[in-house]
Amino acid sequence: MQQSIQPITKDLVLIGGGHSHAIALLMFGMKPLGGIRLTLITDRVDTPYSGMLPGHIAGFYSYEECHIDLLRLTNFAKAQLYIDRVIGLDLENKKVICANRPEVAFDLLSIDIGSTPATIFVPGAAKYTIGAKPVSNLLQHWFQLLEKVAEYQQEALSIGIVGGGAGGVELALSMQAHLYQVSKMYPLKFSSKREVMDNNTPKQGALDIHLFQRDTQLMPNHHWSVQRTVKQLMIKRGIQLHLGESVCKVEPGKVICKSGLTVECDRIFWVTQASAPEWLKTTGLTTDDQGFILVNDTLQSLSHEYVFATGDIATMVNHPRPKAGVFAVRQGKPLFENLQRFLLDKPLKPYTPQQQYLSLIGTGDGRAIATRGCLTLPPHQLLWQWKDWIDRRFMEQFRRG
Ligand SMILES: Cc1cc2nc3c(=O)[nH]c(=O)nc-3n(C[C@H](O)[C@H](O)[C@H](O)COP(=O)(O)OP(=O)(O)OC[C@H]3O[C@@H](n4cnc5c(N)ncnc54)[C@H](O)[C@@H]3O)c2cc1C
Repeated sequence: MQQSIQPITKDLVLIGGGHSHAIALLMFGMKPLGGIRLTLITDRVDTPYSGMLPGHIAGFYSYEECHIDLLRLTNFAKAQLYIDRVIGLDLENKKVICANRPEVAFDLLSIDIGSTPATIFVPGAAKYTIGAKPVSNLLQHWFQLLEKVAEYQQEALSIGIVGGGAGGVELALSMQAHLYQVSKMYPLKFSSKREVMDNNTPKQGALDIHLFQRDTQLMPNHHWSVQRTVKQLMIKRGIQLHLGESVCKVEPGKVICKSGLTVECDRIFWVTQASAPEWLKTTGLTTDDQGFILVNDTLQSLSHEYVFATGDIATMVNHPRPKAGVFAVRQGKPLFENLQRFLLDKPLKPYTPQQQYLSLIGTGDGRAIATRGCLTLPPHQLLWQWKDWIDRRFMEQFRRG
């Protein structure tokens, strides 16, 4: 018997393979909607899961373990996948403008393209530092550095990390832990992991990690209890904290602060506050002062109801939250439901993100710190095991398809 095929009546286009879109695609796969052509346009076929990224840098997870395969996911969701970089939108004619392929027409659009650390305000930052985003670029530089360290057995290495938010802190702890692992092969060149962890007396000069933070506190958006725990740990681990230091210039191999402090670094990683891409400014979408798309409680653009936005690139006007993967993940389900409701001409449902959330911060040494609201638990192996279990379970759902 011939099966009846429903004609395509509407095009739903998703831009960016971010966390919310990954969840939404999974749900479209489980609960498809007839008559809709679903298309994902994203610039890479693998998308990193932010929760496992520091663990990948620390050497706990392989590339495959912490990346979502978007080809597999779009196959499951019966969606088209276009690997390309979006460079603009023609909202009047409802078209997406890509770097390499012809324009893509849509009836309904959803944007989940993340953010990148802002480098444009500091001379030399874009040229001489490695941005934490795009993640593929960060990982390429990081694994090249690890290889080089192993190959050439450098006697001394100095790493600068600019930005003391959760990302910068996790990056510093994870990088240090992995470099000490590598150093096990070269015990005379680096202080060993055991030496640092047990005696708290890292050998200075062999591996120096400098963390520059404009604020006088690390992780300023978090409760003081976690700020104190993280600071104590970093001091114990021998990470050189430069708090209240505003980086004003970067020269090759040199970080220069407003105070005059100048530190020589072999590699400089840039993990400062998130910024939005320039092309968004030309689209006509209403944005906040920093260029992020303003959305209402139903995740729709304030200016264009047929455009949804989630994750770092969106700012919920009534419920602003920090730019973190955990919020992008949580928005996945309400996004899916409201996209379906919009297509079915049903009333949309408002979504309120959580005020308080559990944050498990990996310390790179097989332990994690837990924090929620005013409660903070110090680094412990059990907390890492808990985080590992949560993250692996999250990733498992994308492998079933
Ligand atoms: C070092 C580091 C560690 C972090 N650790 C954590 C953590 O442990 N927990 C946590 O909650 N958050 C963490 N974060 C923050 C987290 O990475 C972000 O908040 C999160 O990735 C945002 O998710 P998203 O869905 O908005 O976008 P993303 O995950 O950034 O995904 C965006 C996607 O869109 C694609 N894309 C971007 N631009 C375009 C374009 N123009 N055209 C087509 N495709 C495009 C990208 O390739 C990517 O696949 C960390 C950040 C850093 C830098």
